[in-house]
Amino acid sequence: ASEALARAQTLEQIGSKVAHELKNPLTGVKALVQLGLRNPAEGASHDRLEVVEREVSRMQEILQNYLSFTRPLQGVEPRRVDLGPLVSDTLEVLSARANDARVRLYADGDAMVEADPRRLREALLNLVANAIEATPPGGEVFVEVRAAAEGAELVVRDTGRGMPPEVLGRIGTPFFTTRDDGTGLGVVLARSVIAQHGGSLRYESEPGKGTRVEVTLPRVAREGRDGACAGRR
Ligand code: ADP
Repeated sequence: ASEALARAQTLEQIGSKVAHELKNPLTGVKALVQLGLRNPAEGASHDRLEVVEREVSRMQEILQNYLSFTRPLQGVEPRRVDLGPLVSDTLEVLSARANDARVRLYADGDAMVEADPRRLREALLNLVANAIEATPPGGEVFVEVRAAAEGAELVVRDTGRGMPPEVLGRIGTPFFTTRDDGTGLGVVLARSVIAQHGGSLRYESEPGKGTRVEVTLPRVAREGRDGACAGRR
């Protein structure tokens, strides 16, 4: 019962955080639209629309993470999933962002598992988005999949800034973020999805060199304990 209470409290905290996080981009979008309406001559300038698009995408992301996070444990619907195409689809979704950041994305390998593809995609989306965000222009992000004895292994690695031990030690704690516009929910979400599949997620990172996230998934999703996440340098 106390576990349920703690979860309810966390959800409530996350709810108010989400409301707070949505406020700024909403205010920004409204101001830009009003500006456009008042100056019809200038109309909807390209730059202005780009800002609106970026802010709307950000709001979508916040909402998406929130919805995924609040979905109950029973939300995992396992079916046969080909991880190769799932990775390619996910990278496709992030390709515009990677282009803007001048980061190259690579995918390699394949494996079959029984898992919930929608939830896995959400988890992977967060891990790769983080990798892109942490990588300076000219850098690279790799997603590698391979069949392992017990199921599959999925590695996301980047040539980005890496994490000092104090960040590595707190990654995956709700609301922990080092970004001005971060929510600190991305890794929490990814970890909980992987744990719900009975898998695990592990970080290795070296400041200035990059980060490697290793995800293991059992061949068939089985309900796991929440919090199967361990940080290591
Ligand atoms: P957010 O992205 O909103 O900050 P996350 O839970 O996704 O929330 O990530 C928490 C923090 O972990 C980030 O703010 C960042 O400092 C760190 N982090 C996550 N992934 C990486 C990565 N690949 N490289 C460096 N730092 C990372």
